[in-house]
Amino acid sequence: MIREARTHVSRNEPLLFELSSPGKKGYQLPELDVPPVDAAEVLGAENTRAEIEGFPEVSEVEAIRHFTRLSTWNYAIDLGVYPLGSCTMKYNPRVNEAVARIEGLAWAHPYQPEPLVQGALEVMARLEAALAEITGMDAVTLQPAAGAHGELTGILLIRALLESRGNPRKKVLIPDSAHGTNPATAAIAGYAVENIRSNERGMVDVEALARIVDEDVAALMITNPNTLGVLEVNIRKIAQILHDKGALLYMDGANMNALAGITRPGDNGVDVMHLNLHKTFSTPHGGGGPGSGPVAVKRHLEPFLPVPRLKQQDGKWVFDYQRPLSIGRVRAFYGNFGVLVRALAYIMAHGGEGLRNATLDAVLNANYIRKKLEAHYEIAAEAPSLHECVFSDARQAKHGVRTGDIAKRLIDYGFHPYTVSFPLIVHGALMIEPTETESKRELDAFIDAMISIAREVEENPELVTKAPHNTRIGRVDEVTAARRPVVRWRPK
Ligand SMILES: *Cc1c(COP(=O)(O)O)cnc(C)c1O
Repeated sequence: MIREARTHVSRNEPLLFELSSPGKKGYQLPELDVPPVDAAEVLGAENTRAEIEGFPEVSEVEAIRHFTRLSTWNYAIDLGVYPLGSCTMKYNPRVNEAVARIEGLAWAHPYQPEPLVQGALEVMARLEAALAEITGMDAVTLQPAAGAHGELTGILLIRALLESRGNPRKKVLIPDSAHGTNPATAAIAGYAVENIRSNERGMVDVEALARIVDEDVAALMITNPNTLGVLEVNIRKIAQILHDKGALLYMDGANMNALAGITRPGDNGVDVMHLNLHKTFSTPHGGGGPGSGPVAVKRHLEPFLPVPRLKQQDGKWVFDYQRPLSIGRVRAFYGNFGVLVRALAYIMAHGGEGLRNATLDAVLNANYIRKKLEAHYEIAAEAPSLHECVFSDARQAKHGVRTGDIAKRLIDYGFHPYTVSFPLIVHGALMIEPTETESKRELDAFIDAMISIAREVEENPELVTKAPHNTRIGRVDEVTAARRPVVRWRPK
């Protein structure tokens, strides 16, 4: 145990096991006023044990302070901005949490008979309809549990459709600006991945695409806006090129918070797409909790959607399993229901006008940051930014400071770092997504910190390359931590 008197007491908190000393208790019980019984006799010896090896023994105040101190190590969305690009880590109104906890919804069993859960089914049906409206698509499945899971579902739908036409084809095209889950998805679905290079504006090169697309191409997976935060303005032309050769257009819709209420992928030639409810539509993410990656499709893919499908029969909601072309189930139950409730609450609370405003604010905030930081950091692509902006560390690298160093220094200023070194096509990327929920005051504080760090890089680069200075732990050996993690405490 490291004990340095110079360190803040909260930052020096040991493990609970290390605080333990024999005989300490966190409780006091009154004298026994009934005859004692032998627990092993009553419960059976196999259900009782004399002690737990290494069980920590601490007082009440020690237990309370221990966990309270640990809680102060956490960065949280309630504390400040998470400028992680690509992630959309935004503050979500508490009312959506309250709605998800309404007893009738929170306590419903996933396999309760349909007549007893008409309300829950109505929530799902309304959400499907709302997402279809927002995306401009014809039908939605709520089953997939995350974005990547939605991608896999979507590509399996494409495979099923092409198979029904006689040939599943061989390749899926993926721009080099795509999220890493895209090529993984295509490979798992049995397709060869062919990378296509972005042009100097960070967009798909339409002419190059036209040369590549042939009868072997099943689909193009495009992220729009892409991971540079740049809108693929040629999306209709791209769709046309694919459709002319019998291929389909998949859109990764994880960045839908840059489009909702403004434009609809379904109106622009997209055949199938997924959404990340845990990014755009209110479920907090980053804590490893449940997510949801609904898939929206055009009419020609609907017969292949996962079973069961919700339908109305004599004025009631029922599940339809009789769908011979379906790719089958992709998940137990019917999706992560609690996430679906939050999404519907969020959408209904905002309304169409509110969703549109959220989009405009997300884009405004990203562009505010871009404009304020452009004089200090090199912008990655000479195209307008939507909901996030990407810089490179080119100027700072001349002083020996890289994007990872700047991110560590940001921690000293009390901010969560931006996304480091992604997207890969930008050397030394700093990817910043403020989201719509940040006020001008918060953005200014973040911008001030970034400008201050840029100045430090020029005047005293060591201050930045040795950061963080104000945290409990400085730089860890990330390789060893990933390859040989020690996750179990053993009594000495
Ligand atoms: C987050 C993200 C994904 C993956 O979503 P998960 O829910 O993490 O599986 C895919 N594409 C893009 C563009 C994303 O930002």
